[in-house]
Amino acid sequence: MFFKPLGRQAAKPAQAPLGAPAAAPPVEQATINVRFFTDYPVCNYKCPYCVAGHGPPEGRGPSPWDEDRYLQIIDNICKLPFPINIRIGVGGEFFISKVLVEGARRLGASENVRVLNLITNLSFHPKQYARILAGIPKEKVALVASYHPTEIKNEDAWIAAAQELGTYYDLTTMSVAYPPSLHKLPEVKAKFEAAGVDHFVQPFIGEYEGKTYPQEYTEEERAIIRQVIYSRHDWEFLLNLKRPGMCNAGFKYLFVDPEGKVFQCGGAQHLKPLGDLTQSTEITFHSGPRPCPVSVCQCDTENINTKVFEDHYAYLDKNQHRFAYRFAEEAKEAPWMDEWTVAY
Ligand code: SF4
Ligand code: SF4
Repeated sequence: MFFKPLGRQAAKPAQAPLGAPAAAPPVEQATINVRFFTDYPVCNYKCPYCVAGHGPPEGRGPSPWDEDRYLQIIDNICKLPFPINIRIGVGGEFFISKVLVEGARRLGASENVRVLNLITNLSFHPKQYARILAGIPKEKVALVASYHPTEIKNEDAWIAAAQELGTYYDLTTMSVAYPPSLHKLPEVKAKFEAAGVDHFVQPFIGEYEGKTYPQEYTEEERAIIRQVIYSRHDWEFLLNLKRPGMCNAGFKYLFVDPEGKVFQCGGAQHLKPLGDLTQSTEITFHSGPRPCPVSVCQCDTENINTKVFEDHYAYLDKNQHRFAYRFAEEAKEAPWMDEWTVAY
């Protein structure tokens, strides 16, 4: 499964003089969200819309994936002296690699790791996941399973597997609004709901039949997506490509690239790194939210760092894609406060 890209030895504040002792994280930065994008390049599927390049006949480009370096970075992440909620990103299927799983095991055993978010295409049996993840405290694990209809032979069996896996772990599922199959999404989402399995939909990013998405969805397609999309936030950032504004990236969130370089986020890799986890655990945090340095943020793990998200939504639990509009109750009395009406 692949999502587009969407991180202290102790950290020091951005303004700290050179050579000054490392500072403890500010109180308000209690848990830092971290995305470690490994770019692990192997997948057992070939989804036609795969952003990692497994679907297109020309295949994917070279990957910086390196097993020893991955584990070295993981060991330094385990030494960071503040609590983290980490998501390991891949350019393929996580559960194929024993080394990726070994890294997850080390993170799961580490005291600073509060939550471990993993992604999978759910191509294995639920009991295999339980076997693979045995030993990692269940309460730390959150999973996103991506539903890929072109690769799955039996839709009902896949939903049943998600239902079973959801009894072991905090699980949510997702699918992509790929133009040729998006008309089926309301039916698909209803099936997931009937099975008691969370499901969210992401707009397609890429080219299909000469059109660029998500920009060129038709009004009819947009209306279908509107029925099934998870939130107004997803609608504005993932479909309408809203300009992000102020963001907590680098303050409450860190992105680690496959080579261990730490950036405020995946969209800011053109800026100076905040650290290098192959060299040390020292990270220079921003002292507060900053304006986003790019014009769009289509990574769902990253655009949830924005101030506008923080102001309007709250997490329901440890899973990074389970959140709710904060003012739903108030909106019952004041319709202008409704999630879909409020200025966003
Ligand atoms: S599951 Fe599909 S979308 Fe995900 S990495 Fe594999 S081919 Fe790409
Ligand atoms: S909104 Fe901008 S600063 Fe924030 S995570 Fe996205 S790209 Fe980075």
